Amino acid sequence: MAQITDQISLAVTTLNRGELVAMPTETVYGLAADAANEAAVAKVFTLKGRPATNPLIVHVADASWINDWACDISTDAEALMAAFWPGPLTLVLPAKAGVSRTVTAGQDTVALRMPAHPQALALLNGLGRALVAPSANKYMSISPTSSDHVARQFADDELLILEGGNCEVGLESTIVALLPGDEPRLLRPGMVTVASIEAVLGRPVAQQSGGVVAPGQHHRHYSPGLPCYRFGANTDMSHLYQAEDIGWIFCGGGQPVAGKLIDLGAEPEGYAQGLYDALYQLDHQTLSAIYIAEPPHGSDWQAVHNRLERAAKPL
Ligand code: AMP
Ligand code: MG
Repeated sequence: MAQITDQISLAVTTLNRGELVAMPTETVYGLAADAANEAAVAKVFTLKGRPATNPLIVHVADASWINDWACDISTDAEALMAAFWPGPLTLVLPAKAGVSRTVTAGQDTVALRMPAHPQALALLNGLGRALVAPSANKYMSISPTSSDHVARQFADDELLILEGGNCEVGLESTIVALLPGDEPRLLRPGMVTVASIEAVLGRPVAQQSGGVVAPGQHHRHYSPGLPCYRFGANTDMSHLYQAEDIGWIFCGGGQPVAGKLIDLGAEPEGYAQGLYDALYQLDHQTLSAIYIAEPPHGSDWQAVHNRLERAAKPL
């Protein structure tokens, strides 16, 4: 435990100097900066190569911290925080006057989340202030779910990486906007499902359409370097089963193939947890392409499908 404490105190010192730290969370590893330090926040955009129009999520160690960032906090927001924090749910709320426009990308709303990873909470509590922490990868590449993935992304940069094991959730948080004059609105699906949010709110959650948007939800995103395709249950792929230079991702009950096969299983939680690691593994082998069998289409799979649609082209 002493080693973890040393690591956290080194990370706190680094953040206090205005430098960045790669921080494990239960969703993916984040590239953390002191959210109250404009110059540090600017470094996040530079190191990731992220456009300034793409806002950051502010991470807090306690729900009370959101009062520094948001105003007009509705009873719906209170209910969702009580039900899902700490956890993989981000709330978009009206920003308080004076909140950094670098963080919000010029918008008058701010995204907030309390992560569930003990290292992330220790770091936040050690610093005593909020952290911005977008995924610790270069812009448009795969989000990291292990410290090894982060190290590969930033091999040429000096970056302190906190070791926190493999991320338990494995996909980025669900994002819901709770803004005056609008219905609760899903901006990005994640492993906190719409059904579970509706159960807490006692009313429907609208899907994203016009009005409020989540900038940065690009169609192509989370992409491996290799050509990557997805195929449905009715597509005959047997002509490729003997090819040795193909990577496959199946969702339970895969075919025997000559190439490299990763079976992520038939449960959405296990599949989500392993997906980015599978893409990292296959992307770093001498293969010509990756083929992904599309999982079932239940609401539990919404977040997985959202990421697959961005990572892989349909056949
Ligand atoms: P990530 O890159 O996983 O940290 O998630 C950041 C994403 O959160 C952005 O790309 C936006 O889609 C969304 N987001 C952050 N802040 C806001 C905001 N104020 N309004 C709407 N969406 C936001
Ligand atoms: Mg990201």
